[in-house]
Amino acid sequence: MTRFKKIYIETTNICNLSCNFCPKTNRKLGFMSTESFKEVINKIDGYTNHIYLHLMGEPFLNKNLESFLKISKEANINVNITSNGTLINKVKEVLINSEAIRQINISLHSFEANDNDIDFYEYLDNVLEFIKEANEKSKIICALRLWNMDTEELKANNDLNLKIIKTIEDKLDIEFSLLEAFKEKRGIKLKERIYLNMAEKFSWPDSSISLISDEVFCHGLRDQIGILLDGTVVPCCLDSEGNISLGNIFNQDLEEIINSKRAKDIYDGFSRRRAVEELCKRCGYAKRNFK
Ligand code: SF4
Ligand code: SF4
Repeated sequence: MTRFKKIYIETTNICNLSCNFCPKTNRKLGFMSTESFKEVINKIDGYTNHIYLHLMGEPFLNKNLESFLKISKEANINVNITSNGTLINKVKEVLINSEAIRQINISLHSFEANDNDIDFYEYLDNVLEFIKEANEKSKIICALRLWNMDTEELKANNDLNLKIIKTIEDKLDIEFSLLEAFKEKRGIKLKERIYLNMAEKFSWPDSSISLISDEVFCHGLRDQIGILLDGTVVPCCLDSEGNISLGNIFNQDLEEIINSKRAKDIYDGFSRRRAVEELCKRCGYAKRNFK
């Protein structure tokens, strides 16, 4: 049995968008090389069957994507990718022809959270055309995300949601009302291997804000870890600055890293429903999921 359900790997921390909800990063910006990616895959061998090519940054910006997919296929690891979808046309052939990819998540909520010159309908058309083609020609699961519902505390940019939902219904020939379906549940199967998920906006963990709560449960280090561009291992996909550095995959074994005192304290804390790290006490995502 593998240790983690998923391991996030940041293949770049550079993004072509600037979402107003994104914490951005002050870390050195760059792209992961094929050699470094291979080293990461070797180091995590046996620890997971699923990698997610996303922490910060837009994974489709990395020109080594095709090599990453080949290396993952050879290592028998399933690849999941989360993208803002704006570059989908540049990589669609590579994605559809790869046998390594299990799932692609496209964050449609990122569009409205930017002042950009991209045409809304062109963007949505490109994403939906890709989904149709991927569905016909591959076994890739595609999940569209609208994680921009308002909460009591957070107002999200979601004025375009109705247009997005209507366009999805039209382009994908959906024969039921998505708005009606959303009254029942937040995750909807649109077709075989195509999903649309709505969720509330959340605030990213931020060590500079006031404490939210120290009563926290999180799957960080239990089901998942993240590996930042420079090899820093963190407990989750939201530690955008590498605040909770547990070690470095390029000069340590993963076993040593996940058995460090800091990692064990975090794990044991969550078992007691307690956050021991200051960042985790200020994490809106954990709060969203701990209701
Ligand atoms: S698409 Fe993702 S990484 Fe890029 S700015 Fe938006 S939230 Fe940040
Ligand atoms: S509580 Fe938040 S910051 Fe802490 S490990 Fe979980 S997701 Fe990451």
